[in-house]
Order: sequence, then structure tokens, then C-alpha cells
Amino acid sequence: MRPTGRLHLGHYHGVLRNWVDLQANHDCFFFVADWHALTTAYENREVISQSVWDMVVDWLAAGVNPNLSTLFIQSRVMEHAELHLLLSMIAPLGWLERVPTYKDQIAELRDRDLATYGFLGYPVLQSADILIYGASGVPVGEDQVSHVELTRELARRFNHLFGREPGFEDKAESAINKMGKKQARLYRSLRRRYQEAGDTEALGEGKALLESQQNLTIADRARLVGYLDGGGRSVLTEPEALLTQAPRMPGLDGRKMSKSYGNTLSLRESDADIDRKIRTMPTDPARVRRSDPGEPEKCPVFDLHKVYADDATRSWVEHGCRSAGIGCLDCKKPLIEAMQAEVAPIRERATALEADPGHVQQIINEGCDRARSVARETMKEVRAAIGLDY
Ligand code: SF4
Repeated sequence: MRPTGRLHLGHYHGVLRNWVDLQANHDCFFFVADWHALTTAYENREVISQSVWDMVVDWLAAGVNPNLSTLFIQSRVMEHAELHLLLSMIAPLGWLERVPTYKDQIAELRDRDLATYGFLGYPVLQSADILIYGASGVPVGEDQVSHVELTRELARRFNHLFGREPGFEDKAESAINKMGKKQARLYRSLRRRYQEAGDTEALGEGKALLESQQNLTIADRARLVGYLDGGGRSVLTEPEALLTQAPRMPGLDGRKMSKSYGNTLSLRESDADIDRKIRTMPTDPARVRRSDPGEPEKCPVFDLHKVYADDATRSWVEHGCRSAGIGCLDCKKPLIEAMQAEVAPIRERATALEADPGHVQQIINEGCDRARSVARETMKEVRAAIGLDY
């Protein structure tokens, strides 16, 4: 996530809740993408340094757990830059110019000069960010799927150009022996079932078995996937896009919640500000007087009820609004309460974290160390594959 300011409820519902769910059963890496922020904000870089720690505090307050996930800052793991450079050698210019967000962003951010090398290449940097951790999945929204696709194509191109290593079979055999006798036997029988009988279920089971082997390195795992399916070794793993089914989070004016529209509620909003901002929200313009019936589907308050209310409250709103049985302030009351109940514990945790910056820095230091050790391992393999390991 780019550090561009304090987070709001749109980030919480659109991204952070999903991260919190993912970390329960995935080994997740979440990072502050400060180099990415520079690609578009190089003339306004104070925002970046101001936002880095605010954003980490917001992540932690929202429930991202450093005991389950690795949290770090991109620019503190230099290996991202090295992989970016090496991938840029093989990234065809046409692929980058065709990325849909490239032209859209240039049009959208017309006030900034984005005719830079860094901006054109940022999907390559993003690919490096993903591939360096051997990621199997990347949680993204619809608009980022093309970037994950580009990452897959770059990985494929890299593996095709540099993926054949000498002594592949011997290295795969010694990796199998690291798995323990029982698991090694299972791996060999699944490999036989796939390679001799074409049993694709065995292939799937074999891949799942490899995913669960904590004592294998990323390189060993990639080798054993290749050994299993009869291909060569993949140096870089092709990731899948994990499409997020997040509810559309409307802002205070009914448009998407976004800082640029000035229609947000922050993750640390006070009870009084939530109350004031919701009370003054526009409603269906047809309800001029309390006695005028309204139409919830034309009201931005109802859009928020769709996120917060249970079925009973929603039907109370629909019926009460259409029959003029309730007033707009009655309608807003349960929404205000639900939002205050959601934000209060986040705000309290954020306040406690802000009071202990040393603790937050320690979490990030440890995350950077862990990320760096994984990234270094990948880079050793990458350099060897290219022939830069002299
Ligand atoms: Fe909107 Fe509720 Fe008022 Fe209807 S009653 S116009 S849904 S705020």
C-alpha cells in the first residue's frame, strides 16, 4: 500500500479487513510501498515520509498482526531494486505501454509530469515486489488484475530465458530428502501417478504438499514443482490474483470514498465527528419535509446502511423511508452507532500505538529483517540463473 495519508474506512472495508482474514491461513507480506509513491509524488515527497508511520499504525490498529504477517518498508529491502533492474532488462516496452492503468493515470493526474522512466516501469517494480517472495497469490481489486497478469508474463519470460540450471535432477532429489521420509515417499508416489498415469489430481495434491513444507526454501519448492510436473525448474513463481470481494464503500456524498473527493471518515475519527458528519450527510432530495416519502435507493445514507445494517434494520429503513414513517435523523441513528462501534476500538488501539513509537519501529525492523532474508535467498537463485554468480 502506498503511503499517501491517513487511512479511511474505504481502505478498511476495501483492503484491510481482507488482509486480516488472509493472514489467518496464509504467510502474508504487507509493505509500505514508498518507492511506488515516489513514481507519482516525487514533487510532493513530504507526504510520503509523514504517512509511513501513520499508515503502519493504522494497519496494526485495524488488526494486521505482526505475529502472523511480515510488515515492512519497501525501500529498506534493497533487493527489490535489484530484481526490478534485472527484470527491466527483459520487460518489452510494448507490454508496459499497454498496461491499462498507464494511460488512465497519465490522463487522471494531468497536473503532474508523469512522462518519466520510473512511472512507465512501475509495473516492473511491482512484479519484482511480488516475485521476490515467491508469492502464490496477490490480493488485488479488479483494476490491478492486469498488473498481476504482467507479473506472470515476466516470470514466464524470465524462466524461459534463464530457467534451465545444470544438475537439476540431483538438486531436486536432494530437496526431496529435506522433506522427511514419509512426506518424501508421498511426493514420489504423487509424481509417479502424474507422470506415468497423467493423474492431474495427484499433481494438485503434490503442489499442495509442497506448499505445506515449511523447511523447504523457495528455490527448492520451485524446483520440486518443476520436477513434479516434468518441466524444468521455475526460478520465479507465477502468482495468481486473489480477487477481493469487498463491498463498495460509499463516501459521505454517495461517491466512492476517496481522499480526493473529501468525503471520507478516517479510521481514527472521533465519536463526535462521526455523529456530525453523518447527521449532515445529504439524503434523498425528494424528502424536503418529514412527511414527504423518500426512496432509499436514491439516498447515500442507505448506501452506508448496506454496509453496516443487518437485514431487519435495512427493511425498517426501506419501509420507514418510503412511507415517511421515520425521519432522516431516526434513520441515521443506528448507522452512527454502528460506525462509532466499529471505529472506537481501532482509534483506541491507534492511540496506544502512537504513544509507543519504539514498539511500532521494532515491528517494522523485525519485518524488514525477515523480508530481506527471503528476498536475499531469491536473489541468489536469480543471479545464478542469469549467470551473475561469479
Ligand atoms: Fe435516506 Fe433514510 Fe432519509 Fe430515506 S429516511 S432519505 S434512506 S436518510
